[in-house]
Amino acid sequence: MIEVGRTLRTAKDPQLALKRLADELTRATERASTLEAKLVEASGELDGLRTSLEQAELRSRTDALTGLANRGAMESFLRTAQINAMESGDALSVFLIDVDHFKKFNDTYGHQLGDQVLRLVAKCLQEGIRDGDLAARYGGEELIGILPGAPLTITQEIAERVRTRIANANVKKRATGQMIGQVTISSGVAQFKPGESFEALIERCDQALYRAKQSGRNRTIVSDD
Ligand code: GH3
Ligand code: MG
Ligand code: MG
Repeated sequence: MIEVGRTLRTAKDPQLALKRLADELTRATERASTLEAKLVEASGELDGLRTSLEQAELRSRTDALTGLANRGAMESFLRTAQINAMESGDALSVFLIDVDHFKKFNDTYGHQLGDQVLRLVAKCLQEGIRDGDLAARYGGEELIGILPGAPLTITQEIAERVRTRIANANVKKRATGQMIGQVTISSGVAQFKPGESFEALIERCDQALYRAKQSGRNRTIVSDD
């Protein structure tokens, strides 16, 4: 304002100076609204980028077939849960699931129906656990449930609930409606021992799972060491 006042006082032709100032003001206003429009556009683009990044991050942690957490996400969840359990003294348990005779199932009904079964098993697992637990695809046809705060007995009950739910499900061929026989899973459960490594814990689950297979499948076995 001081500048404008001085320009007007010292101008030879105040009328002309006034017009120039008015023109300058118009141009400045136009520049400001162009900048504002660009800012709005850039902020919209930034929101879009943020959303894409979040979606990409979620995809990188998710298994595409089952929609469960993938192996990488599972490892980082379990390692953090182990640390938390040691700090708090709370229980932490894990159960590993493996579909019974899945190779034969694929051979008999085709890989696509096999995939549908894996999605069903994943759904039963996800629905069987609580908020704060993690359901993940450990590998091929093996899924895993990680239950922070849960002791062995509770985890065994949950694994059993998932197992019976799958055994009682009616698997139908989606395309034809053809009824398929019973699909079963076996499960191995272990409770984290403070100080135990990630690998050792999974190994104990795997051994319990192996015993479940050896003793007839369609059952849950708890690690006894
Ligand atoms: P067991 O009862 O001892 O577990 O026998 P199994 O036949 O299930 O075990 P095996 O390890 O011999 O076979 C696992 C099968 O799982 C073989 C493979 O074709 C199948 N499989 C692994 N990943 C997938 C998948 O993403 N989709 C389908 N449809 N099948 C899969
Ligand atoms: Mg297997
Ligand atoms: Mg199997």
